[in-house]
Parts: sequence; C-alpha cells; structure tokens
Amino acid sequence: MLQPAEGRIEVLIETFLRKQLGLKAHTVTKVEETDRFMIVHIERLGRRLLRCGVCRQRCRKVHSVRKAREWRDLSMRKLPLKLRYRPRRVLCPRCGLRVEDFPWADPWARVTTALANAVARLARELSWQGTARQYELNWKSVATIVKRAVAYGLAHRVRPPVHVIGIDEVSRRKGQVYLTVVYDLERRVLLWVGDNRTEEAVKPFFTTEMGARRCRTLRVICMDMWAAYANLVKKYAPQAQILFDRFHIVKHLNDAVEEVRRSEMRRLSQKEKVPFKRSRWLLLKNPWNLSDDQKERLSTLVQWNMPIVRAYYLKEAFQLFWFYRQPKRAGDHLEKWMRSAMRSRLEPFKKFVRMLRGHLEGILSWTKSRVSNGAVEGMNNKIKSISHRSFGFRTAENFIAAIYHCCARLPLPVER
Ligand SMILES: [Zn+2]
Repeated sequence: MLQPAEGRIEVLIETFLRKQLGLKAHTVTKVEETDRFMIVHIERLGRRLLRCGVCRQRCRKVHSVRKAREWRDLSMRKLPLKLRYRPRRVLCPRCGLRVEDFPWADPWARVTTALANAVARLARELSWQGTARQYELNWKSVATIVKRAVAYGLAHRVRPPVHVIGIDEVSRRKGQVYLTVVYDLERRVLLWVGDNRTEEAVKPFFTTEMGARRCRTLRVICMDMWAAYANLVKKYAPQAQILFDRFHIVKHLNDAVEEVRRSEMRRLSQKEKVPFKRSRWLLLKNPWNLSDDQKERLSTLVQWNMPIVRAYYLKEAFQLFWFYRQPKRAGDHLEKWMRSAMRSRLEPFKKFVRMLRGHLEGILSWTKSRVSNGAVEGMNNKIKSISHRSFGFRTAENFIAAIYHCCARLPLPVER
C-alpha cells in the first residue's frame, strides 16, 4: 500500500533562501521575478534583536526604518538575485545611533559578501574587465571589490617569521614607472609592494610592514647589484646577509654578451655575418654534444677569435662559479675570471667586472647560502601577465592592489 508523502518536506524558495543567506533576525517574505533579476524581499523577523553595524553588539532599541536598499547577489540559474530590504537604525549602547549589521554584506557594500568573494576569486584569474563582463558588473565595482578584499586580506593574513627575502623591482607602463616587490623566498609568497624603487620608497617595508621585531629574524636578503636597497638592510637588518643572487648576476652577464653580439653585428658586413647565422646554440651547447660538422664550424669561429666568441667563452667560464662549495676556491675562480675579462677588450664585460668588484662580498655569499631569487623570476612573470591582461594599470594604486590580490595569498572575507 502506498504511503502518503509523509516526512517529505516541501521547501519553499523563501525558506531555502533564508537558510542559504544564514538569516537569523531576518526572513525572506517574498521572491519576485522580473525579466532581469530575482528580487528577494527581506524583512525583520518578529521582534528579534538586531545588531549594531559597527560593533555587532545586540541592540534593544530600533530607532527608525530607512528607505529600501538593494544588494546584488549571486545568480540562481540564469537570473542574478537582488536582495531588497529597508535597513533599521538601531541605538547601540556603545556606538550610539547606527545602521544595523547585515549578515549578508559589509556595511557600505552594494553587493553581498558571497558575490564579492566570487568576483574576487575570478579576478585572480581574469582581468578586471573580464571579471566584470562575467558577472555583469561594471569595471569600477570589480575594482572596489578587489581593493576591499585586499584590505581585508592584508589585515587578516598569517604572518609567520620571515628568514629569507628577495627584493626586486618590476616595471609598469613599459619601464616608465617602477614598483618594488618583496617576496618571502621560503614560502614563495609576496610580502609587500612599494610604489617606486628608491631607498625612501622601500623604507616603509622595514619600518612599517616588518617593524624592528620581525626584522630581527631576517637571515638572507637577495637583491640585484644595481639596487639601492643595501643601505636599508645595513640599517634595519644588520644581522642579515646580503646576497647578490644568481638570477640577477646571470641576467647582467647575458646582457653583456648580447651587447657585444649586437655591436659586432652592426660592425660586420653582410658577407661576414654568414658564419654567425644560427651560431648562438653552437656556442652554448656543451662541446661533446656537437656533431662533426658543428665542431668544424665552431673551430673556424674560434680561430677567428672574434669578440662574439670571446664573449661566449667568458660567459661559459663564469658559470663555473656556481658549482664551487668552498668560498676560497669560488673567490679564486672569480678573481681569475675578472682578470681575464678585463683583458678581453670587451667594454660590456669590463663594465660587468666593475659591478662585481663593488659587490664581491655579497656575491661570494652564494657559496654559503645558495639561495636564489629563482622564485622571484616566476613571481615577476606572474606580475607581468597581470599587467598585460589589464593593458597596464593606469594608476599605481590599482596595479598594486592587483599584485597583492594575485601573489600574496591573502584570505578572503568570511561569509557568514
Ligand atoms: Zn555598536
């Protein structure tokens, strides 16, 4: 015999939404469907106590009812929800007359926390324009949501002690403007972004962001030799070892090779250029991996003793430095290399040697700590892609917010 549908619960959409929104002192009275939205009407539930919008304390007295406000929410199937409610003003024993607390949104937000978080999550993957299109919001709303999420995240992120950091610069608008970024190289996470790359601009990282107490745990600080940051380290984290890292040194070395190659190519006639076509890999490959034909071409080039060849040899010889484990040997190798580079009659290499001379101690630290800013390279590429996908942010403020949002692993606001 068939049982009547006892125990089966029919859930009204109003009840479903009330539960989904986690309402306790409020309830959903009606859901109205228009052609663009589902409008969810919310009312106060009986005489349940409302909370103060500032301190969230329960308040006995309701002072007045304000005019209806609307909050954009997530979509249900095709239609976006819109919550509609007439906020109360409550008399808080602590704060005085305030607008009540909304469990679904921040005090001044025009979207619910659930929607804001969904937008913020997508904005980590897409451009702000793309995110706006996806949620049918305008660009400005997305910018506001991301900046609020970042402000929340910065205030609530975990801050374990930091031991190894990398300081680097990234350019905005094709090298017109620079920002300084600081990474925790152990956790591979962005710590701080500063507007500009001067000593003055980076000082707040040590004084405000870190503070004297957290500065004391710093052991190794990786940076580029060009950077103006060394003085700051000496002043605020004197115990930390400065390391001019492999990634940046190799970059300068490659720049020197490239400069030699370019100036040679300008100098050579069309006919003379022929043997150099596709010679780059010939010179970079390990000699034992070359075919007979390639070996022959190589020896011809070598006999010519062209500046390009000398540049490549110097570069390859320098790279041995990274394999020494004893500081003494590494130092000897470097010394020998610098002497031969100075005799090379290659101006870019002499420039490179002068740079090394000024920073020997920080370069030799490599044998002790073997930390590399390699993680920095990955992060910098990520920042570049953030900048590209948004056609370069017009203001530093927006760009900085986007960098924090994508690289600092910030927590998102809690949905109640
Ligand atoms: Zn209060």
